[in-house]
Amino acid sequence: MTNTQHKSPPNASGLISDAKTAGKISIRNVSKTYDPDGVNVLALDDCSLEIQAGEFCVIVGPSGCGKTTLLNAIAGFHDITSGQIDLDGELLCSKDKQAEPGADRIVVFQQGALFPWYTVLENVVFGPSVQGKMSGPKAKKAAEDILAQMGLQGILHSYPSEISSGMRRRVEIARAMMNDPKILLMDEPYRAMDALTKTIMHKNLLDVYDRSGKTVFFITHDLEEAIFLGTRVVVMTTRPGKIKKIIDVDLPRPRDFRILASEHYLELKKEAIESVHEEAKKAFEAGERELA
Ligand code: ADP
Ligand code: MG
Repeated sequence: MTNTQHKSPPNASGLISDAKTAGKISIRNVSKTYDPDGVNVLALDDCSLEIQAGEFCVIVGPSGCGKTTLLNAIAGFHDITSGQIDLDGELLCSKDKQAEPGADRIVVFQQGALFPWYTVLENVVFGPSVQGKMSGPKAKKAAEDILAQMGLQGILHSYPSEISSGMRRRVEIARAMMNDPKILLMDEPYRAMDALTKTIMHKNLLDVYDRSGKTVFFITHDLEEAIFLGTRVVVMTTRPGKIKKIIDVDLPRPRDFRILASEHYLELKKEAIESVHEEAKKAFEAGERELA
């Protein structure tokens, strides 16, 4: 990857906008209690976090500490019990208002969500053309541009079942980018992948990030992945989840695998491991099981 990609203009379709001005998330004193069958489960406890527009914010923490709960609140999949979350200064959700899921906050799921009966190109076109944002031919051209930028031009007419899981995940990111979201929400998207496939996924995601400047909210268990990708790594406490520590990852971009051997990367990784380990130990002692 070269530096020039940082400075690329918006693509021909205009889809990848200057997103640095959009996608700021303010999480203020957010708590969430689940109440299944009258048993209260406090998942999030007074969480506050500012995520800047264009930041690659990575959330780590023990299983069951409330990471997915936080992502789901932003995505609009469920409500919060107190506090509020703003998007670009406007109220997204509070205890009285659940966010609506929207094309400005696209979730890339771990299990994948491509339509098996559509080709790769059709899958990517599907989002915007269904929402009526763009005419069919314009959407097709934009999809072809985005898929080409991501090196996927060779599989336009393949079906999801004909390509690898890594390719499918890349197609999902292309489809998400077609919606020109303000924020990409990613919940352990590479969890089930082997180390080598992950490195390819990381490079591809960082290319997209460097080019688009979208805000990314990324959950992972993998601390190497967290430091390699993130602008900041936010460590959550064991349940009830609070923000325990924020690690500024001041490694230069564009990043490539060589930074994995740098002293500073190793220092940051050590800091993250120590912080998460402390919480994992507490979770273990409290008898929390592996949940995710
Ligand atoms: P993480 O993603 O960090 O592993 P989650 O946000 O999925 O954690 O879960 C946080 C806590 O909330 C866990 O104790 C989990 O069991 C509980 N929880 C999650 N979803 C529900 C639900 N729908 N009903 C009841 N409890 C839930
Ligand atoms: Mg989870």
